[in-house]
Amino acid sequence: MKKHDQDFMKRQNRLTVFEIIKNQQPISRASIAKQTGMSPTTISRIVGELTEEGFLLESEQVSVGLGRKSTLIAMVDAAVLSVGVELDRHQFHIGIVDIQGNVVAGGRYPRTADESADVTLERIGAELDRLTKAHDIDCERIIGIGIGLPGIVDNDSGVVVFSVQLGWKQVHLAERLKEITGYDVAIDNELKVKALAEHLKGAAIGSSRTALLGFGNGVGSAIIVDGEIYRGKTNSAGEIGHTTIDPNGMMCDCGKAGCLQTYININSLLSEANKIRPTRSIEELFEARRAGERWAVYLIERALMYMAITINNVVCMYNPDSVILSGELGDKFPEIYDEVVELCISKFVWEPLRGSFTILRSELHEQGVVIGSGLMSQNCFFALK
Ligand SMILES: [Zn+2]
Repeated sequence: MKKHDQDFMKRQNRLTVFEIIKNQQPISRASIAKQTGMSPTTISRIVGELTEEGFLLESEQVSVGLGRKSTLIAMVDAAVLSVGVELDRHQFHIGIVDIQGNVVAGGRYPRTADESADVTLERIGAELDRLTKAHDIDCERIIGIGIGLPGIVDNDSGVVVFSVQLGWKQVHLAERLKEITGYDVAIDNELKVKALAEHLKGAAIGSSRTALLGFGNGVGSAIIVDGEIYRGKTNSAGEIGHTTIDPNGMMCDCGKAGCLQTYININSLLSEANKIRPTRSIEELFEARRAGERWAVYLIERALMYMAITINNVVCMYNPDSVILSGELGDKFPEIYDEVVELCISKFVWEPLRGSFTILRSELHEQGVVIGSGLMSQNCFFALK
């Protein structure tokens, strides 16, 4: 085996063992060996390393009946915290996340759409500082920062390649934020970390093939296959918002015409609504629909139809066992989910795939990106150390 492959295997083994202990603690070495198929020597080496680093503790337990002593391994709960950050056009959201994915402290902070990357990153550093002081959090326990954001993200190099929503291009985000805060920084696309969070903590626990769809300021998806995020060549797999629906359609903020997201996302809905009458917020548009104004009924029902079509298209492409619906539209107006599911099942699902998948709602809602980012940072830490 090549050196590079050996290192990769070592990191994967370490992460696998760590995940099993985290989820099944207290647990014996023998049980870990049985589940992973790794040798007792490998298990002992990994457990030894993690114990020495202060993440695990071992306790002797006498089993009932036989009177035999066995050693069980458990997590040191307070040992690890990480920081999850959700970065968006009009705000950023910081959460301190523990090893179980609970947010122990957090806050939301407004930003202006034209705020530069440097200013935003300085502000994240300052707010994080304030947050840890206000909640009396021991910074020694924080092992790193994870960030989820909209756009094309090179997760290996920590570079934001292109984000229309943030207006950023080629921003060396991980490197810059590490300079400011001193912490290791991992970054990824927001829907990919959200899918990770739902997979580890939320609606997708136990699913091996998950498609998560996001309908909000943008439209996108993330796919998890056997516990791994499917990334594609440039970490752009799942960018369905820019699939072309109508070459003669409306202009998209990406510069093309007729992208899927121009029928669904909040900005597009508002700009269409404003052709009829001044509409400042998505709430106003839904209000107009409730009042039975035909243009508003038409706009929203068209969006719901395209959401239903998107579910069918993604199911045809990936054949998942679960489809998770998420995003600001459904978080704000949960009633639309039933309409979309009903439409999809009654009109758009391809017959051979009917019944092959379950449609679920996000369980972590607007916390998903922060939790997923925090857990991503922990995964990087335990796998790479
Ligand atoms: Zn587009």
